[in-house]
Amino acid sequence: MKEYNVAVVGATGAVGNEMVDTLEQRKFPVKNLKLLASARSVGKTLTYKGEGIKIEELKEDSFKGIDIGLFSPGGAVSLKFAPIAAASGCVVIDNTNAFRMDPEVPLVVPEVNEHAIAMYKNKGIIANPNCSTIQMVVVLKPLHDAAKIKRVVVSTYQAVSGTGKKAIYELEQQILAIYNNKKIENKVYPYQIAFNVLPHIDAFLENGYTKEEMKMVNETKKIMEDNSIQVTATTVRVPVFYGHSESVNVEFERDLSPDQARKVLKKAPGIKVVDDPSKNKYPLAILAAGKDDTFVGRIRRDESIPHGLNMWIVADNIRKGAALNAVQIAEVLIKKYL
Ligand code: NAP
Repeated sequence: MKEYNVAVVGATGAVGNEMVDTLEQRKFPVKNLKLLASARSVGKTLTYKGEGIKIEELKEDSFKGIDIGLFSPGGAVSLKFAPIAAASGCVVIDNTNAFRMDPEVPLVVPEVNEHAIAMYKNKGIIANPNCSTIQMVVVLKPLHDAAKIKRVVVSTYQAVSGTGKKAIYELEQQILAIYNNKKIENKVYPYQIAFNVLPHIDAFLENGYTKEEMKMVNETKKIMEDNSIQVTATTVRVPVFYGHSESVNVEFERDLSPDQARKVLKKAPGIKVVDDPSKNKYPLAILAAGKDDTFVGRIRRDESIPHGLNMWIVADNIRKGAALNAVQIAEVLIKKYL
């Protein structure tokens, strides 16, 4: 079997770390693994297949001989280094928002639009969508195929790991401070996140929405390849470490009963239906954490409109929302194109 030289860029971060584990767990055919981060991390090591690999500083000449680059170093760093990597023949799979809405760059969730990966030839870059969008479209796509979606109203309950390792630390420290009666510090979020709920993810825009909310609107249309789907979102940060939860209301053109929807979803890739209210069975962040599937439950009719369903969708934002989706793209890439 052919093996590939792989670089993980932002390897010391929440997503990068998970990418290294995901490559190992899914037995990706890695010849050499290069781990890149900022100068701050030089000297640190990460374990891959039982061996310590030293972190190297990301530089312009880091990509010689690299076939695939899994990037999650933040938007500004990707914007600069992804084209440099691509110019040296490396195919970049980028987790940041730097290239997602570039019409020449495919934005891919393999269960939804695997075929778009072919477009990587345009710029040598494939974009990984925003975490809250990925788990939603995995569920929306089979439902759209069954009854054509007109409109989606989503409210999210997003884990702090979505903001990276500093936010995980901030929630831990605030919980400890509260229990020890110490002063609570907040550096990552504008307010205390422990035992609180913040209706604010990413920067506010002129239209009153946040960037995260508009990512869900615009990325959904691009991935589903259907600009007619109307989406409106409210994105909310909650004091959960791993796993984003979403309340999703979907209006369809044709009727789709909850039973029909469950049947469709049970057959769809990457989805687990957990929906038995009589036994208190529904998706939970703590059960989704560390898992590959996107979980869906609480499927019921929206009785206020002719053809509508409500549902609850949960997935591990670091796995399916980031690292796993990127590695799945890499798997298709080597199977079909490299
Ligand atoms: P994180 O935990 O803060 O990690 C950031 C990573 O980027 C670290 O490895 C950091 O290295 C590296 N980095 C920062 N500045 C750098 C520079 N100048 N040169 C090289 N490396 C640099 O953040 P994260 O949660 O992993 O997220 C990273 C990116 O992925 C963000 O753009 C985020 O929006 C996106 N994303 C995150 C999620 C999620 O659920 N967390 C999901 C999808 C997409 P040092 O350790 O050396 O500072």
